[in-house]
This record gives sequence, structure tokens and C-alpha cells, in this order.
Amino acid sequence: MTITPSQRYDVAIVGSGPAGSLLAYELARTGRSVVLLEKKDLPRYKTCGGGLTRRALSLIPFNLDPLIEDRAHTIRLRVHHRTIFEQTRPDPAVHLFMRDRLDHFLAEQAIAAGALLRDRTRFLSVEGAPGRLTIQTTAGTLRAGLIVGADGVHSRTARALGLPLAYRVMPALEAELAVPETTLKRFAGSIHFDFGVIPGGYAWIFPKKNHISAGILARRRPAKDLKPFLRHYLEANGLPPGNTIRPLRLHPIPCRPDRRNQYADERGLIVGDGTGLVDPVTGEGIFYALKSARIAARAIQKGTQGSASIRDYYNRLLKNEIEAETLKADLLARLLYRCPAWSNRILERYGDTIGAKHMAVYLGQMTYHQLYRYVLSPRGLAFLLRQRRKPHPQA
Ligand SMILES: Cc1cc2nc3c(=O)[nH]c(=O)nc-3n(C[C@H](O)[C@H](O)[C@H](O)COP(=O)(O)OP(=O)(O)OC[C@H]3O[C@@H](n4cnc5c(N)ncnc54)[C@H](O)[C@@H]3O)c2cc1C
Repeated sequence: MTITPSQRYDVAIVGSGPAGSLLAYELARTGRSVVLLEKKDLPRYKTCGGGLTRRALSLIPFNLDPLIEDRAHTIRLRVHHRTIFEQTRPDPAVHLFMRDRLDHFLAEQAIAAGALLRDRTRFLSVEGAPGRLTIQTTAGTLRAGLIVGADGVHSRTARALGLPLAYRVMPALEAELAVPETTLKRFAGSIHFDFGVIPGGYAWIFPKKNHISAGILARRRPAKDLKPFLRHYLEANGLPPGNTIRPLRLHPIPCRPDRRNQYADERGLIVGDGTGLVDPVTGEGIFYALKSARIAARAIQKGTQGSASIRDYYNRLLKNEIEAETLKADLLARLLYRCPAWSNRILERYGDTIGAKHMAVYLGQMTYHQLYRYVLSPRGLAFLLRQRRKPHPQA
């Protein structure tokens, strides 16, 4: 269906990932006219582990029970295939989803709240003065007061707005594997994070209802292709590398945003992966995508389109509430990934403490700021020095 040029929306959102759809929902339910542009045909497959931490789940105002593929009560951290931290909780720490179903569901909630979804519609360009924008798409032209780029890493919207937004990316590779029932049972209810599998990165196993998702990421692109590392990891865990349900695809995860980044101007703003704000330790991005959408909704409700207030409010909040956190986490990521031989020894020795404290961040009980304050406090240092690695049963 083509878009008629006479249509005018308060806000045009590019991209119907978690960031775009949650923002569309929040704005539509408070009476804004919103159009959500998506280049793909929904529901669309998205390369992702689909792990939603407790802190991420707390930002979604809907019951997601019917979409849950598995609940991870047990978190296991391993170095060179030896368990160095294991925690089993009565309440799940991470819920597992398939992103095509989750994202489609969120887009449907936005539609139910009054947003208009245009899938198979690619954003091309934007021009015009603040508050009076003309947006070109593959389905025609539309007018909007404000544009929001929720179009993921390397956001075209950010480039079209000319925003100074720089970050690095880490390559990630994920396999969706068909496995026998016995293998499914072996991994059900738990997730694994494995260090020492790839230099400067980690690997993971996330179980789903009928298959296993397993992946690998490298903070820096290794000399070799990621595929041999993933194949070796799968074999070491008794997972058949040949049984992939989908073709393997390398996908970038943003990291290390520049401190000088600006996330908005008078014409629009960027949410989600397009900001470059992702947890640099694990690559968890859905939490920050949802959080930036929430902050954007607050900024848009507060400001008047075309005024500097949306720009200033959004930039300030994003820097204070997300950028500062991810930059703190980035120090940790650098310690962890820059010198793996050293950091793996630290993990082997202090795995219990590090694992438990890091878990507290993903459960939303602690921020990276608080984690740093704890580690650098006399109490934290004394505690760490007293620790010795406790033996764990092998997974
Ligand atoms: C291998 C891998 C595993 C991951 N695992 C996890 C995990 O387990 N947990 C977690 O929290 N995070 C994970 N992430 C990160 C997570 O996938 C992202 O952080 C998250 O998807 C960001 O959401 P978003 O809404 O910003 O963007 P996206 O989900 O990328 O959505 C962007 C949307 O914009 C659309 N789009 C792009 N360009 C245009 C255009 N020009 N016009 C119209 N539409 C457009 C795209 O089709 C897409 O639908 C993983 C990432 C990778 C690569």
C-alpha cells in the first residue's frame, strides 16, 4: 500500500524492533498520531539470543507469557569449559524468546494503541524544517512533526539527520540448532556463558522450546573467521554444528560510544542500537533499547515538536541514564577482553563473587555505577582478597 503525501503524523518512527514498537505504543496511547515504518515483512527473523534479563522485562508493560520459549533459572559461567560460577534461582533470571514473535507482538500492541504500521516500507531520507518534515520512503512520501530512528545499528535515520554519532561494533554469530529431545532437556532451564572459547570474546547457549540458540561474539574481530570458533564450541558441547535451522549470519553489535555523541536534534532523535548504547560486557541490547524508548517517550511528551526542549532533554537523560552506565561497563569489558589470559585467571579465582555481582546488575538490583563503588570500596576490596575459587561440579 502506498502512502499519500497528505498524511501527516506527529511522529514517524523508523524500525519496529523493541525500541521502535515500545515507543510507538507509549506515544499512541497518549494520543499522538504515530506511523511506524518497517522495511521488512512482519513477523521477521532477527539474529539474536532472545534473552530478556529481568531488568529488560520490567520495562515491558504486557504479559509475555504465551511467547516465552524457556525460563532460565540457572546461570552458568565457565572458563575453558570449567564451571566457575553457577546460580539457580527460584524465579527465572532470564526469559528466552524468539525475536520474530516478540517483536511482532510488540508492534501489534502499538497498533492496538492507535499507531499505524507500514511494513515493507523502507525509510530513505528526511528533509524540511523542525516540526515540518518530509520523509521519503519506498512506499511514498509522508509528513511528520518529528522523526525517530529505531532502525538499529548503523542507523540510516541518524545519518540522514546528520547526527554526530560514533561507536565501534563487535561481530557476533549465532546458530539456531535442531537437536534431539535429550539434548534439549540437558540445556532446558539454564543459560551458559563461556569464556576462553574465543580470544577477546565469549560464547553462549540459550535454549528455546524446540531448538537451541548458540552464539559467539568477539570484542575485536579475531584474525580468523568466527565460524571455526563457533563450530569448535558447538562440538565441545555435544551440539551438532551441521543441524542449523537458519543460515549463519554475522551481525554487528554496537559498543564503545563516543562521549561526544549527540542522540537528538530539533528534527528527531535516535533510540535503541542506533545510539550505540549496548551492554559492552555481554552485548545485551534489548534492555537499553527499551530504556531509550521510555526516555524518548518522556522527552516527546514533555517537549513541543520543533523546539530545542526535546533535543536537550533527551540528550541529557540518555547521557546520564544510559551512556554513563555503558561507559562504566566498558571499562569492565576492556579488562575482561583485552588480556584474556589474565582475565580468565581472575575469573577462575573470583568467579563466584564476580558472577554474583554481575547477576545483580542483570536482575536490576544494582547499576554498573554501584558495582564500581562496591568493588573500589575498602569492604569490596577486602572481600575480594578473602575469596578463593570454590570447586564447582562440572556442567
Ligand atoms: C547474535 C546476537 C545475539 C544477541 N542476543 C541478545 C540477547 O540475548 N539479549 C539482548 O538483550 N540483546 C541481544 N542482542 C542485541 C539485540 O539484538 C539488539 O540490541 C536489539 O535488537 C536492539 O533493538 P532495536 O529496536 O534498537 O533494533 P532492531 O531490533 O535491530 O530493530 C531495528 C528494525 O529497524 C528496521 N529497519 C532498519 N533500517 C530500516 C529502514 N531504512 N527503514 C525501515 N525499517 C528499517 C529493521 O528491519 C529492524 O526491524 C543480540 C545481538 C546479536 C547480533
